Amino acid sequence: MAWKPRRVCRCGKIIAATDLCECQIKRKAENDRRRPNANDRGYDSRWKLARRAFLDKHPDCAMCGKPAVVVDHKTPHRGDRAKFWDKGNWQPLCAHHHNSTKQSQERRDDR
Ligand SMILES: [Zn+2]
Ligand SMILES: [Zn+2]
Repeated sequence: MAWKPRRVCRCGKIIAATDLCECQIKRKAENDRRRPNANDRGYDSRWKLARRAFLDKHPDCAMCGKPAVVVDHKTPHRGDRAKFWDKGNWQPLCAHHHNSTKQSQERRDDR
């Protein structure tokens, strides 16, 4: 029988040198949980595409008619996916008006 090299893990357990200790597996699982999952990464690129397509169709700011640079949510979506993807809730805004609506929304949120 081949003798397997052993090592002592940080947690004090003696394990095969080529194996991961239970405590390492647990740590790894925790790190994976903290990382944004594949869904959220896909969601970013999906939003980038949708946003560009929307601005192609609606190139002017809804407030002043200047070139729009952002798609704004008329009703803040607050993480609600349905509201987030509802095109009826989107409006094209220039940087100036995007900033001013964001600020007034934040003021409202303060209450
Ligand atoms: Zn360990
Ligand atoms: Zn504007």
